[in-house]
Amino acid sequence: MKLQRRPIDQGLYTKGGIITERNPDFCIVRLRMPAGMITPDQITELGAIAKRHGVKDIHLTTRQTIEFPHIDPAELSGLLAELEANGTPLGAEREEVVNVTACLGTRHCKFATIDSVALAKEIDRRFFAKELPVKVRIAISACPNGCESERLNEIGITGIQRPIRDPGLCTGCGTCTCYCREKAITVENGIIVLDKGKCMECGFCIMPCPFQIIRGENPQYRITVGGHRGRHPIIGRHLVTVDTPDDVIRVVDRIIYWIYRQASSGSLLPEQLDELEFDEFKKTIVEMVEG
Ligand code: SF4
Ligand code: SF4
Ligand code: SF4
Repeated sequence: MKLQRRPIDQGLYTKGGIITERNPDFCIVRLRMPAGMITPDQITELGAIAKRHGVKDIHLTTRQTIEFPHIDPAELSGLLAELEANGTPLGAEREEVVNVTACLGTRHCKFATIDSVALAKEIDRRFFAKELPVKVRIAISACPNGCESERLNEIGITGIQRPIRDPGLCTGCGTCTCYCREKAITVENGIIVLDKGKCMECGFCIMPCPFQIIRGENPQYRITVGGHRGRHPIIGRHLVTVDTPDDVIRVVDRIIYWIYRQASSGSLLPEQLDELEFDEFKKTIVEMVEG
């Protein structure tokens, strides 16, 4: 007797997180997991869900999420319902805002200047899977070390902190110079001199001074647009630097609206920046932030 296959809901294939596999009879299911954060209970349940649906291997992606390869499309409805119930729902992979990535930021990294995880979750909450003419990847690093390669994303956000030299009595001990990887601090005639041209605003020199001569300004958020990795990597262009997470959300909202209204499908965002009059857009954003 011939076995009857369960019917396949073709509508599910319009969802971005479902990717047709090399063997087109199967698909890959990619999840939504902003900042790559997942609780121990969720990851345990993900293992159980995978087993129930015959998944042999689970793949960790470059965009800090998880995907289940080799899924029989007949399994999709049940699988997606279980993933949703686990708080690890279906992701996105088409011309839309895909999984937002972030480093651990001030929650755990000693170099961090901003809470990149909270920011990633808020950006995800507001913009995830927003349909656009082009794919938009957003990444956040909490310091200029750039562990998330954020400037190679369509929207990159970097936490920075500018050092300020206090007028107090610098002993010229040189401790701070050892912490500056850019050689942006020198001791001249017994006091330090900061070279703003070399300084990356990482803030690493602030803590080590035994006399608190170097203070940090409030952390800021540097936003770049039009980066891309893949075949021809491109570093994003600096758009604006802002002071608060709310400012970041306002700027990201404007970038996404600009892409939605003006970008065209068929080529990557970085290839369109000049046609989209990036410099004009930048002026309006700077005016908005400063106004
Ligand atoms: S980018 Fe900076 S803050 Fe983030 S993990 Fe790397 S070193 Fe830490
Ligand atoms: S902020 Fe970073 S790059 Fe700038 S002077 Fe301090 S350690 Fe050097
Ligand atoms: S700023 Fe502080 S650490 Fe740097 S040379 Fe002066 S006293 Fe030493």
